[in-house]
Amino acid sequence: MNHDSAFGASLQPFMGIPSFMRQPAGRDLSGVDTVILGVPYDSAVSYRSGARFGPRKIRELSLLLWGHNPALDVSPLEHLRLTDYGDVEVIPTSIAQTMGRIASTAAEILASGATLIALGGDHSITLPLLRAHAQRYGPLAVVHLDAHLDTWESEFPGVPYSHGTPFRHALQEGLIRRDAYVQIGIRGPVMARSDYAEARALGAHTITAQAIMEQGIAAVLDEILPHLSGPVYLTLDIDVADPAYAPGTGTPEVGGLTSYQLLQLVRGFRGLDLVGFDLVEVCPPYDCGEITAVLAANLVFEYLSLLALRRSSKAQDNPGVGAGPSRETADPGSR
Ligand code: MN
Ligand code: MN
Repeated sequence: MNHDSAFGASLQPFMGIPSFMRQPAGRDLSGVDTVILGVPYDSAVSYRSGARFGPRKIRELSLLLWGHNPALDVSPLEHLRLTDYGDVEVIPTSIAQTMGRIASTAAEILASGATLIALGGDHSITLPLLRAHAQRYGPLAVVHLDAHLDTWESEFPGVPYSHGTPFRHALQEGLIRRDAYVQIGIRGPVMARSDYAEARALGAHTITAQAIMEQGIAAVLDEILPHLSGPVYLTLDIDVADPAYAPGTGTPEVGGLTSYQLLQLVRGFRGLDLVGFDLVEVCPPYDCGEITAVLAANLVFEYLSLLALRRSSKAQDNPGVGAGPSRETADPGSR
C-alpha cells in the first residue's frame, strides 16, 4: 500500500478525491483501456429532473468499492487501466448541441481503443453514445435494462428527442441490430396496448418484469444469450430496479427487479463481446440513504469485472501478446 497516494483503491472509503473508484482522472488516454465518462444531462426527462447530479453521486459512492469481486473471483483493476475522463460539457438548454458533444467526446475516447462506460444523465444520452459506438463497431447487439420501452415516437407533441424515444431513433438509424435488441424488466402502465406491439414491430425482443419473476434470471439468460453475438452494448436504466432498491430516479415503476436480481443478470453477461455500457437515470435529489447511487456504483463494478475477466482469459489464451486483437482493445499498442 502506498501511504502517499492521492488516488488508489487502497485508501479508506471516506478519503480521497472522488474520481471513479479513486482512479486517476484526466484526458491522457495513452495506456488506458477503460474510461469512465460522466454525462450530466437531464433536460430530456418527462417527469422528475435531477439526473444531472447522477455522475457525481455515483462517483462518490464508488469509493465504497473495494477492489476484489468474490462472486466472479476477479479484481478488475488488476486487469484494466482505468481513467475517469470527467464529464461531457453538456448544455442544459440544447439537446441538439448536447447530443453532438456526447457523440464527439465518445468518438474521441473510442478512437483511442478504450472501452467507454458512461454515467448519466437521463436516457436520451444513449442515442449519441450508440451513434459513436456503431460508427466504430458497426450495428450493435443491445441489451436494454429498463422499466420502460423507450421506443415511443414522441413524449411531447412534435418533439422527437427525449428520454422516452432513444431506441426508436437508434433502430431507425440502423445503430442497433433488429435481430439482437433485448429489453429486460419492462413493466407498468402504458398509454395503449399498441405500445408493446410497436416496440416489437421496431425489432425489440421484450422480456417483462413479470416474466422475470415467473421464470427467474437463469431462464431469462438462457432465452437471450443466443441472440447476443457480435459486439454488445449494455444500457442500464436504474429504474429497472424496484423503487424499494432505487428510489432515486425520475420515473419510478413498482414491481421491479431486486438489487440481487440485477447483479445476477449483469454477471450472466460474462463472456459476451462487451464493447460499451451506460448507466442512466440515477436522480440523487429523490434518493434515500444514497441506496440508488450505491446500487449504480456496484453495477458498474460488475461490468468492470466482466471486462477484466475477458481480458484475463484472452491473456491466458495468448500468452505474451497482451489482450489480443479484440474489438475492445482495437489498438493493442495502447496497453
Ligand atoms: Mn429508460
Ligand atoms: Mn425507465
